[in-house]
Amino acid sequence: MAKSFTGTLFIFSAPSGAGKTSLVKALLDSTGYIGVSVSHTTRAPRPGEVDGKDYHFVSKEDFQQLIGESAFLEHAQVFDNYYGTSQRWVESELEAGRDVILEIDWQGAEQVRRLMPEAISVFIAPPSIEALEQRLQNRGQDSDETIQRRMRDARSEMSHYGEYDYLIINDDFNNTLEELRAIIIARRHRLEAQQARHAQTLKDLLGND
Ligand code: 5GP
Repeated sequence: MAKSFTGTLFIFSAPSGAGKTSLVKALLDSTGYIGVSVSHTTRAPRPGEVDGKDYHFVSKEDFQQLIGESAFLEHAQVFDNYYGTSQRWVESELEAGRDVILEIDWQGAEQVRRLMPEAISVFIAPPSIEALEQRLQNRGQDSDETIQRRMRDARSEMSHYGEYDYLIINDDFNNTLEELRAIIIARRHRLEAQQARHAQTLKDLLGND
């Protein structure tokens, strides 16, 4: 994909229980010109999840059809379900100059990096294995067996941290939020992006007609 975008694509990966979803929500509330891609998934909605907001919940057949239509920028099987990112939405946001966050696993991150090497990838890790277990337990209803399986899945996701551009340890929500904001804001001020955004001002400043 040899397109030149003004917006930046950010990939955020984390094991479940690292606090990624609440961090992304807070980032969206506090950082303008940024959106988060709503993925398609074949998994069932959890209590409180809203179709079209948390995910586009689709059947396996619909998901296969979307793959056939090349609708996904990336897609992957994560544990027992399929997940995919809409290519059209992401591209239109980036073309409009807005930054986009993808909350995806390491397999999706790998695919996106290959297609868009300019994407910035961030791995968010919990401060300790105990903290992760505690957070998974605090979620409520799950059996010990499910929690142990989630811990194994988390370890497998965390083994990929070295493939990312940035590593953030979420030991304090507000600090982590500031660290993520710093990465986004710094990237936004890169020369090429600023030149595209402020072309007229720069022209005026230099006095070129
Ligand atoms: P959950 O089902 O708990 O919401 O998400 C499970 C895992 O799937 C998380 O690691 C999440 O980052 C990942 N995931 C969510 N959406 C996508 C997607 O569109 N693509 C890929 N590759 N992974 C996703």
